[in-house]
Amino acid sequence: MSDNKNWTEEDLLPISALQHLIFCERQCALIHIEQLWDENRFTAEGRVMHERVHELGAEQRGRVRVARGLRIRSLELGLIGQADIVEFHRQDDGSEVPYPIEYKRGRAKPSDCDKIQLCAQALCLEEMLSTHIPEGALFYGKPHRRLMVPLDNALRASTAETAQRLHALIRSGITPTPEYERRKCEACSLYDLCRPRAFLEGGNVAQYLERMLSE
Ligand code: SF4
Repeated sequence: MSDNKNWTEEDLLPISALQHLIFCERQCALIHIEQLWDENRFTAEGRVMHERVHELGAEQRGRVRVARGLRIRSLELGLIGQADIVEFHRQDDGSEVPYPIEYKRGRAKPSDCDKIQLCAQALCLEEMLSTHIPEGALFYGKPHRRLMVPLDNALRASTAETAQRLHALIRSGITPTPEYERRKCEACSLYDLCRPRAFLEGGNVAQYLERMLSE
């Protein structure tokens, strides 16, 4: 990396890691520092849904050109990924305004993690196409509905701040200790690898490691 505004191609981190970071810093570190991954029903369903969306290919619907599975990246945010769907809306002057749409298997979440992921995609497209994208959408499987997302300054700032936090975590190379929260941890695909309750019961890192080594 040369500075925060000009990451190199080698520095780029997956856009999907933003969601991991927002969900749990430890989960993010386990996946992106320690390269651990364990799929559960939710992640498997999500992966299959994204693969199906990407396989549908491009199409033209009147003034809207639809691209699927576009490879995107931003050197400013230091992020790389793939956009589920980008609609290109043709304007009267012949120009096209991109409109990213991210598919989600379940319902809208209480946190802004989905909006931040969508905004990161939009910022990648803006940088790659030298354009401005005022809005995108999230498509939730439950209910089967599109939610419009204005890409305002607050969401852009929050996305940039999350990307910076992600780079700082990965650069540190340190996996945070678990913080057990029942609802979150029981939905986590890395629960068995993380073992947050064992850590909680142990009281400190040394005791936890001792117990792990003796098992
Ligand atoms: S089990 Fe809990 S603490 Fe561990 S990685 Fe998952 S969410 Fe984080």
